Amino acid sequence: MATYIVLLGPPGVGKGTQARILSEKTGLAHISSGDLFRENLKNETELGQLAKSYMDRGELVPDDVTIRMIRARLSRPDCETGAILDGFPRTPAQATALEKMLVDFNGEVNAVPYITADEAILVERTSGRWTCRAHGHIYHEKFNPPKKAGICDVDGSEVYQREDDKAETVTKRIRVYLEQTMPLVDYYRNAGKLIELDGSQAVEDVTKVLQEALAR
Ligand code: ADP
Ligand code: ADP
Repeated sequence: MATYIVLLGPPGVGKGTQARILSEKTGLAHISSGDLFRENLKNETELGQLAKSYMDRGELVPDDVTIRMIRARLSRPDCETGAILDGFPRTPAQATALEKMLVDFNGEVNAVPYITADEAILVERTSGRWTCRAHGHIYHEKFNPPKKAGICDVDGSEVYQREDDKAETVTKRIRVYLEQTMPLVDYYRNAGKLIELDGSQAVEDVTKVLQEALAR
C-alpha cells in the first residue's frame, strides 16, 4: 500500500516548510498544488493562464482543473510509494475526489497533520516569505534567510516575494481558507486521521512534534 499524508492548515503556517523536511526524511514525494500552479504560470501553459486570475485575487482555482492537475501529478512514477500533499485538498469536493483517486493508486489518506497559528503569525510569515524561482524552496527574511541575500541556498536561483503574499491578498486568502477549507478539519477528524499541531513554535520544534505524532 502506498502512503499519503495530507498537510492541512492556513496560508503561511509552515506546510511547505514541513512537507519538504518530511519528504527528505521519508523519501515520499512532496506535492504542492501551489508550486504546480506557479510552475504552470512560469511556463505560460493554458492552466497557468487560467489559474493566474484566481491566484492574484487570493481565490481558489476551480475544483475540476485542480483535481485533474493533482491526479496527473500523482500518476507519475515518483509517487508510486505515496506522497506528502501540501495545499491539496482545500475543499470538500477535492477531498472526496482524492479519496476516489487514491483507490486507483492503491492507497488512502493515512494521516492529516493539521498545523495552526494565530492570524498575526500567518501575516508575519507570509509578508516575509521569499520563494525560489527555480524550485520553490522557501525562505523567510527574518526566520530563515538564505545565506546569500536574494539567492537560493540549494540551486542558486533568484528568490522573490510572491505577488499574492502582500497583506491585503493574504487577508483574503485567510478568509477563503476559513470558508472553504475549514470544513475539512471536521471531515478528517471524524475519519480519525487528524493530528493537531501548534505551528507557532520554531521550525525544528514543529518538525519534532510532527515526526513523533506520525510515528505513533
Ligand atoms: P499557501 O502557501 O498560502 O498555502 P499555496 O502556494 O498553497 O499558498 O497556494 C497559492 C494559490 O494557489 C492559492 O491562493 C490558490 O489560488 C491556488 N491553489 C493552491 N492550491 C489549491 C487548491 N488545492 N485548490 C484551489 N486553488 C489552489
Ligand atoms: P505554507 O506552505 O503553509 O504557506 P510556508 O512553509 O511557505 O507556509 O511558510 C511560510 C513562511 O513562514 C516562510 O517564509 C517560511 O520560511 C516561514 N516559516 C515556516 N515555518 C516557520 C516557523 N515554524 N517559524 C518561523 N517561520 C516559519
